[in-house]
Amino acid sequence: MLRHAPLLLVIVCAIVFSIINHLRSVEFADSLRQLRALERTSSALFFAGVEFKEAALNLLMDDATDPLTNERYLNAYTGLSSQMLVADARTENVSDPDIFKKLKHLMDDIDNVHQRIIDSPPRSPERINQIRMLGFLIQRWLLQVEAVTASIRLKAIQSDAALESLQRTSLMAFAYVLMIALSFMAWVLNRWSRQQKALLDREAFLHRMAEVDPLTGLLNRRGWERISRALDDSPTEVAKGLTLIMIDLDHFKRFNDREGHAAGDHLLSRFAQLLQTRSRPNDSLVRLGGEEFLMVLPQCNAVSAETLLNRLRQQDTLPVSFSAGVAEMKVGEKVADALHRADRALYRAKHLGRSRTCVAPPSDIAEGAPPLPQVSISAQIV
Ligand code: GH3
Ligand code: MG
Ligand code: MG
Repeated sequence: MLRHAPLLLVIVCAIVFSIINHLRSVEFADSLRQLRALERTSSALFFAGVEFKEAALNLLMDDATDPLTNERYLNAYTGLSSQMLVADARTENVSDPDIFKKLKHLMDDIDNVHQRIIDSPPRSPERINQIRMLGFLIQRWLLQVEAVTASIRLKAIQSDAALESLQRTSLMAFAYVLMIALSFMAWVLNRWSRQQKALLDREAFLHRMAEVDPLTGLLNRRGWERISRALDDSPTEVAKGLTLIMIDLDHFKRFNDREGHAAGDHLLSRFAQLLQTRSRPNDSLVRLGGEEFLMVLPQCNAVSAETLLNRLRQQDTLPVSFSAGVAEMKVGEKVADALHRADRALYRAKHLGRSRTCVAPPSDIAEGAPPLPQVSISAQIV
């Protein structure tokens, strides 16, 4: 775990960075929303101001002789005042609350002049002067509104750009975290599967080793039992023709006594090699025990097995001969029964003088063969 600490640190940093970025972008988005709202308020103020200016100009021309002009003026004034109140309320949540401050001061001046216009008698020179002054004040006020709107718009544009770049970095950080996390996971999975495979390979290797005779490298009796079970479960293999050959070295005991046990071992190993040189990839070679061997030959009949044994004898340069019993398996026959027939055939070969091959008849009893004592198949597992 300590080995991966730097990688984990990078991931944690990237996650923290992306969270901070996200929080900042949320903040920016909020302030951008407020700026947009202010921009709308500012525009509304501008239009209310323009309307009020028009109403004041009409008032100057008519000087309130027309009650309608008078009413429009009053309405425009009310509209402007209420828009100013709305703007005031909006600035409460804004980080820059003084944004409409100058407008508010100007609005106070406008209010004063407006009050004087209302209070002065119609057509009086004082009233006309006040209306003119109001025109100037509103013009100033409108210019101020335009300036405020422009500054708000500028801030909004800047916020928008900052938000976009924040969101971009956030996305990149997220992709980065995702990439690292996925690579890390893939690496962990890969390592785990490699470990699993190594374990399975080792298990399979140990399993195989448990079935191998260490002296000859052929299968031992345990391996043969597995093959035997598989053959019993696969009648099609037998139907294609399958022959068992049991082989026993002749007078091996004498050789052992004469040459020594080590020479005997060497001979066993050389004989196993000889069998291997004549076998096909699908054949199975077993050392059943001692100097007894078994050849399991798929897609092979008794005649071919005899030919094979003859070739083996011709090739054999070993100091001892061997006897063999051949049994071609019958469809429906159990492997143990076929092996028994091969064993009896081998016994017969020994009985007839050794160094020869005997083929088992399809059924010993059917042939009317005299019951022969059974040759023991060594129960020892090599
Ligand atoms: P036969 O022709 O009737 O088969 O005679 P044999 O002497 O070959 O048979 P027997 O069963 O009398 O003797 C088998 C000998 O094989 C006895 C034993 O010492 C020897 N043997 C069994 N296993 C091994 C082994 O792993 N290494 C060696 N060197 N000899 C072994
Ligand atoms: Mg022998
Ligand atoms: Mg023997």
